[in-house]
Amino acid sequence: MAYLGNPAGTIAVLQKYNFNFQKKYGQNFLIDPGVLDRIIMHANVTKEDCVIEIGPGIGTMTQYLCESAREVVAIEIDKNLIPILEDTLSEYDNVTVINEDVLKVDLNRIAKEKNDGKPIKVVANLPYYITTPIIMGLFESHVPIDSITIMVQKEVADRMQVGPGTKEYGALSLAVQYYAKPEIVANVPPNCFMPRPNVGSAVIRLTRYDKPPVSVIDEKFMFALIRASFNQRRKTLVNGIGNASLTMPKGGKRAGERITKEMVASAIEALSLSPSIRGEALTLAQFAQFADVLLNTD
Ligand code: SAM
Repeated sequence: MAYLGNPAGTIAVLQKYNFNFQKKYGQNFLIDPGVLDRIIMHANVTKEDCVIEIGPGIGTMTQYLCESAREVVAIEIDKNLIPILEDTLSEYDNVTVINEDVLKVDLNRIAKEKNDGKPIKVVANLPYYITTPIIMGLFESHVPIDSITIMVQKEVADRMQVGPGTKEYGALSLAVQYYAKPEIVANVPPNCFMPRPNVGSAVIRLTRYDKPPVSVIDEKFMFALIRASFNQRRKTLVNGIGNASLTMPKGGKRAGERITKEMVASAIEALSLSPSIRGEALTLAQFAQFADVLLNTD
């Protein structure tokens, strides 16, 4: 089987199977060998690694992964791609294709079965319509992960990397930076895909921390506060969280009680922050302190 990562190879496969792109699945296949080489290089895949690929498409990047990894598990939702993948990956005995929605697959079980529960690498040209749920799902379900190297919309890659004081800063930036070190490793223009997407793309590598860079008593509580404050981005922290109908979690002094504006205001004061501060001005470390102080409010 010839490599598919070029326009002629991709068109030949699409014609052979009379394949029609499904827009609803975010299908933009990579046709640039230089970009594929760079993704594989930045993902640092070795013959020791078990790699999960999300959305293999016709198997273009999967072929590269099969060459460089020990074991590859590729999860593809579109059943029309399964016979194509059987063909394009027929030379490889180190790949398993699963015809499922990645958001419904038990990735912990895959890591256990295929890699003895040791950290796996995720490499993908993601379907852009579900980038955030995929990334959050990978982190929050505590799948053992070494790194995630993914093609995403350029604007989303920027959001993962930025800090306070920028308009892109939000809940995704904080979640990613709590779990991993983000690095944009390549910018990729629309003409590297078939069909061309309407947006620019970037490859970002998220290297999972052994230990998060900040410590917080209740991680879930901190993320509930972060989400509430960015849901009402233009509001002050006092109003944003005070209006969010959140309750104090177990483990705190006032477990089960509704969080009031007064409670938020006194936590902000205890941290010597301005009473009119907005969530978008807080760093990850400040959100962690804020969550801890609020949790221990008398
Ligand atoms: N990896 C291929 C490539 O680079 O040429 C295809 C990438 S394309 C951007 C995204 C792929 O994800 C498509 O094959 C699409 O069918 C698949 N996909 C979309 N939603 C999915 C889901 N929920 N679970 C698994 N795969 C999905």
